[in-house]
Amino acid sequence: MAVTYSVPTGLFIDGQFIPGVAGKTFATVNPVTGETITQVHEALKEDVDIAVNAAKKALKVWTAMLPAQRGALLLRLADLIEANADELAAIESLDNGKPFLVARALDVAVTAGTMRYYGGWADKIHGKVIDYSPALHSFTRHESLGVVGQIIPWNFPLLMLSWKLGPALACGNTVVLKTSEKTPLSALRLCELINEAGFPPGVVNVISGFGPTAGDAIARHMDIRKVAFTGSSAVGRLILKAAADSNLKKVTLELGGKSANIVCDDADLDQAVEAASTGIFFNQGQVCCAGSRVFVQDGIYDAFVEKFKAKSASLKVGDPTHPETSVGPVVDKLQFDRVLSYINKGKSEGAKCLSGGAQVGSKGYFIQPTLFIDVSDSMTIAQEEIFGPVACVIRFKTIDEVIERANANPYGLAAGVHTTNIKTAVKLSNALHAGTVWVNCYNILVPSIPFGGFKESGIGRELGKYALKEYTGT
Ligand code: NAD
Repeated sequence: MAVTYSVPTGLFIDGQFIPGVAGKTFATVNPVTGETITQVHEALKEDVDIAVNAAKKALKVWTAMLPAQRGALLLRLADLIEANADELAAIESLDNGKPFLVARALDVAVTAGTMRYYGGWADKIHGKVIDYSPALHSFTRHESLGVVGQIIPWNFPLLMLSWKLGPALACGNTVVLKTSEKTPLSALRLCELINEAGFPPGVVNVISGFGPTAGDAIARHMDIRKVAFTGSSAVGRLILKAAADSNLKKVTLELGGKSANIVCDDADLDQAVEAASTGIFFNQGQVCCAGSRVFVQDGIYDAFVEKFKAKSASLKVGDPTHPETSVGPVVDKLQFDRVLSYINKGKSEGAKCLSGGAQVGSKGYFIQPTLFIDVSDSMTIAQEEIFGPVACVIRFKTIDEVIERANANPYGLAAGVHTTNIKTAVKLSNALHAGTVWVNCYNILVPSIPFGGFKESGIGRELGKYALKEYTGT
């Protein structure tokens, strides 16, 4: 399908698209071809200062509005996102490489749903009255924090933006958000819709730029009261340090993962294969909660591996605009080289590459869905986040053993359990150190269900009512 669109390229500050103070631009690249799509304006520290000033000024207007009016703007934005869904999905697909139909059905739909969900919350955020004695009572207010900074990654540009903007705005904060330098475009188009919805200028400011410059300036800005970061654990550590070194701003972190997807002997085999495939190949494996360690119990191992191999080989890799494509290119050359180097490492450390394992074609950044078996826990591919379409199948014998092995990793974002026995499901769900445990499904992410990590996968929660706590002074 042909979708026509144009995207502004300036920094979105105080309701306008403007060039950066230094007049610099950078290229954003189409991962299908490796060619430049367009140049976008680059924010540096001075631009972050200008955006923060706009957000500070807008706070007066934003907090003077009725909560229900703020909610109505979020609801209007949700409607506009849906009305422009084809265009937003086409931009997302072009800049990121994900299949258009996936972007349309998932990224854009959930972005609208998240804005709508938090639009509904805006006038339902309130405190409590606490009675101490007949003569003394106290009341609590869930006050907004002020200007919040938000930094997002490239794997779900619109979706990550909605997880950040929705709760922040519903709670009455104003925002300076930095997109990833790899995928700035869809957020800029969304900023036009923010204006069209009627948000007061300066309530939402979105800048394109790089981490060590614009991102760092957000993390250590003295007038930003909270920073919400999604990205790698390595950068998460820098954000915490920057917050500590500046004004001790509140910090929430959504970081990496190496999630265990556990298939028990009594699982429904076809369902488990589907979930394992979605778990690791959806979005080219570039998912923080990707089920990259597929633990399979002895009794079902051979049958599972045979079906999983057939499933992986059947996935159509290629042109993201083609309706049958389920795996597009990875986001850029850096990510492409990184994933292939992990595949080579898996082979050299002795894992058996059962299918995939190579580039598709010679142009762009396409990688075959890759399946490793005979993987042991100590191998690099079983330990580190690959962030690509690479599944590691690991054999286990008992439930107690798999609990210990699945938990023996610094990350704790998500896990999957596939079993028809409710006792096993409950035992595993309780014992796995993960923020989310999916039972007989995987990658279910909806606005009302909280999401976030244990251990080195993060601090705090996004989505659901839980996220409201992260954006108020409670
Ligand atoms: P990244 O950490 O390289 O970059 C994330 C963002 O941080 C980008 O906007 C980048 O410009 C910025 N950044 C980089 N250096 C910075 C610095 N010094 N100071 C401030 N900002 C800086 O991560 P990525 O490659 O964009 O994304 C992949 C990672 O994100 C993976 O580890 C993945 O698991 C994680 N992720 C986590 C979740 C979650 O919800 N837990 C969701 C999506 C992605």
